[in-house]
Amino acid sequence: MATSYQITATKIQTYHRCPQSYYFRYELGLKTPAFFGSAALGTALHQSLAKIHRDWHYLDPLPQMDWLLQCWQERSTNLSPGQVTEGQEILERYYQNFIAPETALKRPLAVEGRIKGYLRVENLEFLLWGRYDRLDYLEDGLELIEYKSNKELKLPTLEEIDLQIGFYYLALEQRYQESLRQLSLLSLRTCEKMSFDASADHKEWVEATVSQLALRLRTDEVWEATPSEGCARCHYARYCQAVSEHPEPLPETGRTRGQIQLVLDL
Ligand code: SF4
Repeated sequence: MATSYQITATKIQTYHRCPQSYYFRYELGLKTPAFFGSAALGTALHQSLAKIHRDWHYLDPLPQMDWLLQCWQERSTNLSPGQVTEGQEILERYYQNFIAPETALKRPLAVEGRIKGYLRVENLEFLLWGRYDRLDYLEDGLELIEYKSNKELKLPTLEEIDLQIGFYYLALEQRYQESLRQLSLLSLRTCEKMSFDASADHKEWVEATVSQLALRLRTDEVWEATPSEGCARCHYARYCQAVSEHPEPLPETGRTRGQIQLVLDL
């Protein structure tokens, strides 16, 4: 039975940045080093914020800090004492900046949501699959909020943000029949909120990018390297002829060119 080719916002961004790195990562399946750092603290913060906004008793206008502490206590049981204190301080700042100044807490449309959408191009069906932290109503559409908990806030480039906006615009329109108006990145460490406007132009750009990807998948032609500043952070630089004088041979992954997991839904 035909299935769809699964695609995420990260995949579209990777493809746009450099088709060869997309090919290494998603078609050949070369592994990237595991993510390290304080992922556990970030996960606990995300889960606490989901509970804070999902389970609040919305008949009462505004929660007190006690409610945030209660949610934090429930979600921080696996952390070290230092991380518990750090997380609590982060939530206290969140409360002072984003809850205390309001007259009432607005109920979100969804928290910790998963979203699916479909896109058919070049006779291929793509399944758009993504997650988000929070989806709020605005007067004229939707606002997607992403919490950032890293110590060093590494912002995507503006082009990457535009592709992310287009991706969610498409998927949310199909799911809710409402338009995405804004994507907001909220840094939990600095309490800065950066908002970016969304429009149907973003959606069209994603459709065009996926269309190019579809063509390449069908023909399996050369996935060209496009060197940029991003090469300094690329996990595949050692295999890349564009940046390495003596590139290492690609490791065996069991997948070869021409065996791409592509399903033609004819
Ligand atoms: S090193 Fe640069 S050009 Fe080479 S695969 Fe990575 S991003 Fe692409």
